[in-house]
Amino acid sequence: MENFHSWGLNEPLVRALDEAGYENPTPVQAAVIPFLNSTRSDLIALAQTGTGKTAAFGIPLLERLQPGSRNPKALILCPTRELCLQITRELEKFSRYMDRINITPVYGGSSYEKQEMAFRRGTDIIVATPGRLMDHLEKGKINTTEITALVLDESDEMLNMGFREDIEKILKHLPEEKEVWLFSATLPDEIRHLTKRYMKQPKEVTIGRVNQSADKVKHQVWMCRMDEKPLLLERLVDSEPDLYAIVFTRTRKDAQELAEKLLKDGYTADALHGELSQAQRDRVMTRFRNRDIRMLVATDVAARGIDVNDLTHVVHYSLPDDPEVYIHRSGRTARAGKEGISLVLAARSRTDLLKRAEKMVGKAFEIMEPPTQEDVLRLRMENFFKTLKSMPLDESVWRPLYPQIHQLIQDVEPEEILLRFMQLHFGKWVGKEAQARNQARSRDRDFREGGRDRDRDFGRDRDRGRSGGRDFERSSSRDRDRRGSRDRYEEPSRRAPRSEDRYGRRESRPSADNRNDGGFDTLKIGLNLGIQDGLGKRQVAKLVALATGLSERNITDVRMHGSRTEFKVPGSARKNIYSLEKMEYPDKKLEVQLL
Ligand code: AMP
Repeated sequence: MENFHSWGLNEPLVRALDEAGYENPTPVQAAVIPFLNSTRSDLIALAQTGTGKTAAFGIPLLERLQPGSRNPKALILCPTRELCLQITRELEKFSRYMDRINITPVYGGSSYEKQEMAFRRGTDIIVATPGRLMDHLEKGKINTTEITALVLDESDEMLNMGFREDIEKILKHLPEEKEVWLFSATLPDEIRHLTKRYMKQPKEVTIGRVNQSADKVKHQVWMCRMDEKPLLLERLVDSEPDLYAIVFTRTRKDAQELAEKLLKDGYTADALHGELSQAQRDRVMTRFRNRDIRMLVATDVAARGIDVNDLTHVVHYSLPDDPEVYIHRSGRTARAGKEGISLVLAARSRTDLLKRAEKMVGKAFEIMEPPTQEDVLRLRMENFFKTLKSMPLDESVWRPLYPQIHQLIQDVEPEEILLRFMQLHFGKWVGKEAQARNQARSRDRDFREGGRDRDRDFGRDRDRGRSGGRDFERSSSRDRDRRGSRDRYEEPSRRAPRSEDRYGRRESRPSADNRNDGGFDTLKIGLNLGIQDGLGKRQVAKLVALATGLSERNITDVRMHGSRTEFKVPGSARKNIYSLEKMEYPDKKLEVQLL
């Protein structure tokens, strides 16, 4: 089999790769490195994060470098600061035995002067986020005349983040004669367009996501109600002693609230989201990397570019609307040949999204029964007794105390002692579980009986920082229509009658409002603003238009209720509609439901 030794790479590079534990190339490395080492060419490589892309472009770049002048010879563009630092770290690792290679990370939020000083001292490779690099280029701080290779890493993410204009401007600052290597997980039209315009007969390499996802990531689903998710997440931690996971939520608020709840319940978790300062983010990441915290609760944006190996699980606490995002998330586990689990905690109302994600991954997700309290308790007791039995006894301390201990407890039967001891040790956990279950049940009951009160309870829960309201309402109201009043979750064996699919959803029920044969034409949306908020239809439409950039004309069928409004928008607004949730509204967090 081919490996880094058989490719005739320079000796210091091979030594560094050996040291970094790189024995066998990953598929993207095998496809790209020998090709680029023998040919000057543009390249389009379709590969996920975590497939070894950095070495795939980093090794050929380092092989091409001929240090001498102070000007940069290669430029790598990537979407985030995290990724920028991570690529820099990797390249520094690879080049540590090579002569005088300078690699300079350039990203927003840090000092311009320091970066300019690095350019003046001399740099061989610049690793940059587009915005900050553009600033330097416009100020004439970088001599680009010797740049002969440009790498665009995570190109789809860069475009998603609105960097297209900057990238095109940057390209205009670079010499005409250069190689362009584009890496991306997906190839949307916008990227195709870029490649046509700026690349010359690029070689295309596709490293199937199926390889990575299908082989190494196990996709599992726990169907549940929204308000059961915190409890189930805690059961997951309790039943997986080695859990090391990123838990994805949809909003910053959800991430913060969930992390706080986990902490309060005694679990080591922390939140990573856009509202944290850079220093706070760094602190959280260091603690996570050092495994001082076992669960990082993160939003998709904040988690971009984070490189953490050995994750046992990626948990989708909320499913993303875009199946591509699902792929990105789950690609963070099962790295470098290891196995990993991508676990979805899914409300039944999200089965459309589940199916789309499943289709994109290319294999069926496994629908699992979440562990019961009894399962978890059994596991914890087993572990406890395993430790107890294998633990060496400090004879000199405890043996002499035995007569005294014996005397203190001699009037209690051994069986009683053992049971009470277990209660002392595990009772708090059992109690906490029971309390959480009761709370979830009573919320469900309030909902079923409550009519208008439902909204009040729902609001209160949200303020207390429990389940994110959106999914709760979504799962409850729609599921109730389908399921009648029976709570299927408590009767899992009867969960899927014949007329329902394996998610417990009726196959025959089309989401008539949203779907036609050709796909999504109009979307029916629910918003948690209504007559009680003192608004009229026109004002709601205005607000929606303002948040999404749609014209008011496109917001149709507006129906107002006490505490909510339903309306329709064109299918093309699928992504933008969630901008509504970012709008400032007095005393309320706006929540959008896709109906
Ligand atoms: P990347 O996609 O470049 O971010 O790589 C994902 C992770 O896999 C990084 O932590 C790399 O250090 C590691 N890695 C990449 N290639 C190899 C390899 N050939 N052997 C072992 N580990 C690797």
